[in-house]
Amino acid sequence: KAQAAVKIAKRSGKVEIYRNGVLKEAQRRFSIESRLRDALAQGGLTLAYQPLIHLQTGEITGFEALARWNDEELGHVPPVEFIAVAEESGLITPLGRWAAYEAAQALSRWDAKFGQPLPVGVNVNLSPIQMARDDVASMFEEALRYSGIGGHRLTAELTESAIIADPDKARKLLVALKGLQMPIAMDDFGTGFSNLASLHSLPIDILKIDRSFVSTMLEDHDKAVIVRTILSLAESLNLRVTAEGIETQALALALQQMGCWQGQGYHFAKPMPEAEAFDYWRARWNFETI
Ligand code: C2E
Ligand code: MG
Ligand code: MG
Ligand code: MG
Repeated sequence: KAQAAVKIAKRSGKVEIYRNGVLKEAQRRFSIESRLRDALAQGGLTLAYQPLIHLQTGEITGFEALARWNDEELGHVPPVEFIAVAEESGLITPLGRWAAYEAAQALSRWDAKFGQPLPVGVNVNLSPIQMARDDVASMFEEALRYSGIGGHRLTAELTESAIIADPDKARKLLVALKGLQMPIAMDDFGTGFSNLASLHSLPIDILKIDRSFVSTMLEDHDKAVIVRTILSLAESLNLRVTAEGIETQALALALQQMGCWQGQGYHFAKPMPEAEAFDYWRARWNFETI
């Protein structure tokens, strides 16, 4: 009897801890949602820009725009956390619109600073939920028109899950983006359930090999095999490849030798604020950086 009582007490203790955990998680999620709503209304988010490097020439071909949020109460909230809350709450629509406008505006501010268009573009991330809910094609059309930027300078990064969720809708969107001259990149490639037929039949230009394959490919033979396979698949389908998560020069050189087109990672630079990204580009634009 006593033993049974101890067991029950232990179990209810666990239930208590579990309850507290769930409650804390719900509270955090709730405060992120309400603070994020305010931040979006008050211009509290920024974009950080991470250089994309042409691995054969060392030139900076562009930047990936990555959302950053430093909240007064919550401090720095990582994008994986607030993007997930934005997706659950519907805030991903205004967030995604803001990111597209801000990225196009950053390009036009850099052009103004330099006195002529920079030979670089910016990549904007799209969420599958945003693609399902919003008219992303007219969002980009308006952002481009508003900032006077050519569509070829704004790359859309989407994930395989968005295509799987609604292939017909995805096709219409991609065709519309190509109508705006926008390049299209498949982000985190290799992590999803790749439908190889859709790679061939949809107007995709770039595959971004996920960091999980790239960063350990020199130590892990299986990862290297996956990277090589993606590179040869891309070559036969006439797609360009960007490798994410290049953290060392050894990786940069290995991928250069493997014929990979473009690279991104801490070896080159971390994501940085708009003004710093411009200075980074201006200091290097006629030098090799690899
Ligand atoms: P992603 O689109 O795959 O972006 C690349 C992530 O890898 C970024 O993380 C970047 O900071 C990080 N990274 C780049 N190079 C390296 C490296 O060498 N080593 C390591 N360890 N990490 C590297 P971040 O900025 O935390 O963003 C995480 C994810 O959040 C993004 O993954 C993207 O899925 C999402 N995200 C960020 N901004 C936006 C946005 O504006 N809209 C949407 N829908 N998603 C966004
Ligand atoms: Mg991305
Ligand atoms: Mg990525
Ligand atoms: Mg990734």
